[in-house]
Amino acid sequence: MDYTIPENLALMVETIRRFVKKDLDPISQQVEKDDRIPDGIVEAMRELGLFGLSIPEEFGGLGLGALGECLVYEELSKTNACFRTRVATNNGIGSQGIVLDGTPEQKERYLPRLASGEWTACFALTEPEAGSDAANIQTTAELVEGRWLLNGRKHFITNGSESHVATVFALTDKSKRAKGGITAFIVEKTYPGFSVGTIESKMGMRGSHTCELIFDNCEVPAENVIGGQAKVGQGFKTAMKTLDKGRLTMAASALGAAQRLLELSVDYAKQRVQFGRPIAEFQAVQFMLADMASQIYAARQMLYHAAWLRDKRGSAVIKEASMVKLFCTEMAGRVADMAVQVHGGMGYMKDYPVERFYRDLRLTRIYEGTSEIQRLVIAREMLKA
Ligand SMILES: Cc1cc2nc3c(=O)[nH]c(=O)nc-3n(C[C@H](O)[C@H](O)[C@H](O)COP(=O)(O)OP(=O)(O)OC[C@H]3O[C@@H](n4cnc5c(N)ncnc54)[C@H](O)[C@@H]3O)c2cc1C
Repeated sequence: MDYTIPENLALMVETIRRFVKKDLDPISQQVEKDDRIPDGIVEAMRELGLFGLSIPEEFGGLGLGALGECLVYEELSKTNACFRTRVATNNGIGSQGIVLDGTPEQKERYLPRLASGEWTACFALTEPEAGSDAANIQTTAELVEGRWLLNGRKHFITNGSESHVATVFALTDKSKRAKGGITAFIVEKTYPGFSVGTIESKMGMRGSHTCELIFDNCEVPAENVIGGQAKVGQGFKTAMKTLDKGRLTMAASALGAAQRLLELSVDYAKQRVQFGRPIAEFQAVQFMLADMASQIYAARQMLYHAAWLRDKRGSAVIKEASMVKLFCTEMAGRVADMAVQVHGGMGYMKDYPVERFYRDLRLTRIYEGTSEIQRLVIAREMLKA
């Protein structure tokens, strides 16, 4: 097996590495305090093409495959997670419904704006009664005089308050639900009846906002069903395909953060002196560093292999992607815990980035499918006839 990273991707990774080091990391703690990314940094991310990593080149994106996207996210996640999250919905769940199932007109209207970062997209599936059980959504859409009227409330929507456009899932046939009764709509923020509700106060991920979206007789043009009239009722499939595609990138983000935590821990262990010696000389600390490094190494092999498989097959790698998301995010949780331990009391202090990574990483085991849901997917794929 050849694990050489292609030259164009290696160059891209190097550019992101420099950007993280020079522009993002120095302001990470400030962004955490302000709960906001400065406009100049959003602009710089636009210029680097970070909003359009996965959007095809014909629509102005970089058209990276799974491996390329994972490599970029791995680098970008070595600093405050909010930077990755700011671009991630445009590349992932916010745009992929249109990339995978959109009509040519929808692609033409939305993808260039999303790829350039002029517009931000979000993905609105989750509701108070529909989290892991996503098919239990209550938001409805009814066709009245040639336009759809959406009614309901979504919650926990990443980038919802920043977005110009949302992929929204609503019930068009209550009796069919996931089997032909859920439709995906493209909803622009200017449509009458659309508003942003509460912005949540979270454990972490400061600088990235999560909110409610409210649809009150929200008027959506008939042509805004993703994929057009023929796809009415097929939205649940679009949602699942979109989430499947995102699992590898979520894993890459967890991996990048874990790698940074290892680097911080090695540096700290070498310079922190107790009992007259750097703590790196104590075997108990060495074992933690060795465990972190080994788990990261295993996770990276899994991720790159699954990404390579996806690029090679050109189709979903459902079981592998769930295994990789499960393993990488759980691994990063263990690494974060050990990193706090290596740093002792310093690891618990807000002035130090380890504390922030610890909180931010916790989310990766919950959103875009909890660890339990990944296990259900893996088992289902394994056991199906
Ligand atoms: C910060 C943040 C950002 C988010 N961004 C978005 C977004 O942009 N768009 C969007 O649509 N959603 C988003 N979500 C929602 C996220 O995807 C859900 O929170 C997640 O799917 C879990 O749903 P839930 O919170 O309702 O938990 P529940 O589904 O209520 O789960 C609670 C617990 O029960 C377990 N559980 C549930 N069902 C089963 C089962 N069948 N078998 C075993 N265990 C089970 C779960 O694994 C979990 O441990 C976001 C969430 C957060 C916290």
